Amino acid sequence: MLLCLTPAEMQAACRSLRASGRTIGLVPTMGALHAGHLSLVAAAQGQCDIVAASIFVNPTQFGPTEDYAAYPRTFDEDFQKLAAAGVHALFAPSAEGMYPPGTTTSVDPGELGNRLDGASRPGHFRGVATIVARLFHIVQPDRAYFGQKDAAQIAVLRRMVRDLNFPIHLVACPIVREPDGLALSSRNRYLSIDERRRAGVLSRALATAESLAHNGETSAEVLRAALLATLATDPLLRLDYAAVVDPDTLLPLAETSHGALLAVAAWIGGTRLIDNLLLPPRA
Ligand code: AMP
Repeated sequence: MLLCLTPAEMQAACRSLRASGRTIGLVPTMGALHAGHLSLVAAAQGQCDIVAASIFVNPTQFGPTEDYAAYPRTFDEDFQKLAAAGVHALFAPSAEGMYPPGTTTSVDPGELGNRLDGASRPGHFRGVATIVARLFHIVQPDRAYFGQKDAAQIAVLRRMVRDLNFPIHLVACPIVREPDGLALSSRNRYLSIDERRRAGVLSRALATAESLAHNGETSAEVLRAALLATLATDPLLRLDYAAVVDPDTLLPLAETSHGALLAVAAWIGGTRLIDNLLLPPRA
């Protein structure tokens, strides 16, 4: 696996990997890799000739009181996992390399960037859109792979690809979960044993609402009440949001027959966890 540490190196490597018409799939990550990340690599391998991945803990998407400094950094293990998975090129720049002094340009996702996680993490999606736009310019992939786990991120990036005419197909991959339903996340390693046991309540809340939907319930209010009722069974959980929204605009829905995103975010102890479920349109 080719390792590139600067934007110029990665740009040059991707230019030659793309030679003779080979397609490139890009998997952007912040490292601390788990099976969710590797599922994106596998999806890219199934659809592209060349797979490029990036590991970059992007400072501009963390708020001043968030866990940028503490975010898990496990580069050696991540490198081994990506090499073993057959990734062709890994881009792992430094923060200074990506944001040299004097960098001022950013990508503003507008109002969409202030919804769901964007409401409680001001500036988060501006940071995400900016770094992903820059990765797109450096790698120039044909396809880019993201997890449905970060549903609001998918909405913001889909809109960015459309608004800025990136010639890139964005692929949303299913959420990979632990046996008890907990969505895999690099932040799960912050959880104590007791918090880890409690964390299953997020996916249980979604499963409860999903079974109501399967039985014909289409009222967003009823589905949201079901989410809240299950989340309330853990009195120590601190809710950020439980929402029933349009998956593209992230605006609240009154009813779900045309499809809906059910999304939850909550603090378990000091760890903020998110999870979601897409309800398909009813036939
Ligand atoms: P991160 O390293 O947390 O920025 O995640 C990098 C990519 O992996 C993002 O597109 C995430 O949505 C995706 N991802 C994270 N967790 C999961 C998961 N449990 N299942 C599928 N994709 C995931």
